[in-house]
Amino acid sequence: MNKPIDNFGRKISYLRVSITDRCNYRCIYCKPEEQFEFIPHEEILRYEEIVEIIEEAVNLGVTKVRITGGEPLVREGIVDFIRHLRKINKLEDISLTTNGFFLPEYAEKLKDAGLNRVNISLDSLQEEKYTKITRGGSLEKTLKGIDSALKAGLLPIKINTVLIRGINDDEVEDFVRLALERPLNIRFIEFMPSGEEVINEFENKFISVQEIKKKLTKKYLLNPIKISTANGPAKYYQIKGSQGTIGFITALSQHFCKTCNRIRLTSEGKLRPCLFSNKEVDIKQSIRNAKTDDKIIRSKIIRNNIEEAIIIKPEGHKLNKKFSNRDFFKMSEIGG
Ligand code: SAM
Repeated sequence: MNKPIDNFGRKISYLRVSITDRCNYRCIYCKPEEQFEFIPHEEILRYEEIVEIIEEAVNLGVTKVRITGGEPLVREGIVDFIRHLRKINKLEDISLTTNGFFLPEYAEKLKDAGLNRVNISLDSLQEEKYTKITRGGSLEKTLKGIDSALKAGLLPIKINTVLIRGINDDEVEDFVRLALERPLNIRFIEFMPSGEEVINEFENKFISVQEIKKKLTKKYLLNPIKISTANGPAKYYQIKGSQGTIGFITALSQHFCKTCNRIRLTSEGKLRPCLFSNKEVDIKQSIRNAKTDDKIIRSKIIRNNIEEAIIIKPEGHKLNKKFSNRDFFKMSEIGG
């Protein structure tokens, strides 16, 4: 199957699907501290609708799907949902991004249902700081979650570490040590302008991964390495003798729009071709307005919507650390 190609010659092969805006954490760079309104249940895509959309995306040539949120493991029925996805022919890779809290309970079940691998977010290795960044999260639970994912074979495991100046940039070497000692792929990610808390402080808190890499190369020999599932924006390196790898994702300082192969489906049922652009296609309304169970009609509607999202995918974004309020976006609603 040929992959769908956008107006700039990019093959779209990757769909990132947010199944909920709810989360058991409230990370400082993602969610506001005060009580906020969740999207009402009836506005969230039902699992059956998501499966239909993914089936059609795969028919069009998508081969990889990542499930995210909010926190995907807070949504009931996640294991059965993954089992349904596994039945889709030609869907080669199903992965999930999680804060790890529920993995001790879910890792084996998810593996058994057909999940290939997980990305786990981990921004600090210090209990107190971890709780502060996540506003109440448990480092102990997340570390146990990592152990469970390793044991269940949800491999390769990528650890997402968002670097924030003055908050966790002092821990970079601790994370490197983690990659030395354990078979984990630690990815240092540039902080993006999401989360109301940072709106006035963004420029001071932003730290480029080049700066981090430069510091690390003074101490370690970083050998470039390819890892099997990595065809995304991360560049990976290995230190001789280490069990894991170190990756760098330059979300802001060096855009990777030219090779961007993804589109997103939000939990509210909008297809979003670029994280940083407000362009969306309301696929949920299209399906629900059709008021039909006819499979052929539904699949045609879905296909048209996906093709439209691919056509409107912008060439790139111009976001950098000098962002304006206009650029500010809500990661928790779109799905990271
Ligand atoms: N709850 C899950 C988790 O914690 O991994 C999945 C959703 S979370 C929004 C997905 C990823 O987006 C996480 O790795 C998180 O660190 C990242 N993320 C959220 N806000 C971000 C920001 N402002 N800058 C960079 N990454 C961000």
